[in-house]
Amino acid sequence: MSYPQLEINLSKIKINVDIMKQKCKEKGLELVVVQKLLSGSKEMAQFLVENGIKTIADSRMSNLINFKDLKVQKMLLRIPMISEIDQVAQFCDFVLISEISTIQRLEKSLQSLNKKIGLILMIETGDIREGLWDEEKIISTSREIGKMKNVFLQGIGTNFACYGATCPTIEKLEKLVALKQKIENECQIKIPTISGGSSTHLTIWEGDIPKEINQIRVGSAVLMGIGLNDERIPWLQGETFKLKTEVIEVQDKPSASWGPRALDAFAREVNFEDIGVRKKAIIALGRQDCPSDEIIPIDSDIKVLGSSSDHTILDVTDSKNKYQVGDIIEFIPTYLGNLSLTTSNYVEKKFIKK
Ligand SMILES: *Cc1c(COP(=O)(O)O)cnc(C)c1O
Repeated sequence: MSYPQLEINLSKIKINVDIMKQKCKEKGLELVVVQKLLSGSKEMAQFLVENGIKTIADSRMSNLINFKDLKVQKMLLRIPMISEIDQVAQFCDFVLISEISTIQRLEKSLQSLNKKIGLILMIETGDIREGLWDEEKIISTSREIGKMKNVFLQGIGTNFACYGATCPTIEKLEKLVALKQKIENECQIKIPTISGGSSTHLTIWEGDIPKEINQIRVGSAVLMGIGLNDERIPWLQGETFKLKTEVIEVQDKPSASWGPRALDAFAREVNFEDIGVRKKAIIALGRQDCPSDEIIPIDSDIKVLGSSSDHTILDVTDSKNKYQVGDIIEFIPTYLGNLSLTTSNYVEKKFIKK
């Protein structure tokens, strides 16, 4: 066993998978599970497949390649780079896409493999990230796709609350439905899927969502029980990830630094309020693993003060626990915290079932 360690509770995640599968079935939605939070963990992908997930989505090609032996449909979430298009052709079943030049390149690559891939043409609905906006361009792109043999228009899709922080609304989804009908009429093609967004969709899905929205791509709700604004979804399991760190120093020390002051390890100006001598613990975790404001101590009397590359400093003065060197201190990471922690090679990932 090594520290820092990120414990991932598969029993809780299984409950979330089962609830989401049931709810999506009731609402006529195909559930695509987004696994990008796990940095390509094959163990997690395997677990999702065993629990009946039919399509796994990830934003990195290398992660999807890692799942190549798994009998599951693979969806590439991030619109592809031209430089990875041959891999997309070889390993994906579906791909989110927006640029006609990329689509043409993919078609060419697929021809040599004699294989077909379903495209989800991304539509910009206000989040100002990827997707086409101009209706003429959407129609002309769809028409071009309609002429191709190895790519086909599986659907149109959109994003909410990723970059532009736009909320999903029923009105925006209705516009997407109208757009699908327009493309179908003008280009004489059938579009089976409208992919209506991410976990944020759950905040409005009890509303009058048009029935044509028939797919959602869900990551954080299944894996962490959170949705829009990273708020807990009460009917899903939360605190699925727990970070365990080891204490390497405990000393009474002044709260403010002293002597002539320069910049910190990250070339930033720092300021400290002098509140006298405090009991401080250092844990073996640093900014290289995770930003210090993205972990919440389970012992709520601990205050996380900050970090340098490899040290995180805690104020433990107010805690009832008398922390000593060698003790393990636990945290619940935020979404961003988990994203960093799973990406760090220095953090052991441990899947537990209990
Ligand atoms: C990350 C992502 C999702 C899933 O988002 P969650 O908030 O984790 O549910 C869906 N679609 C795209 C394109 C994404 O990049």
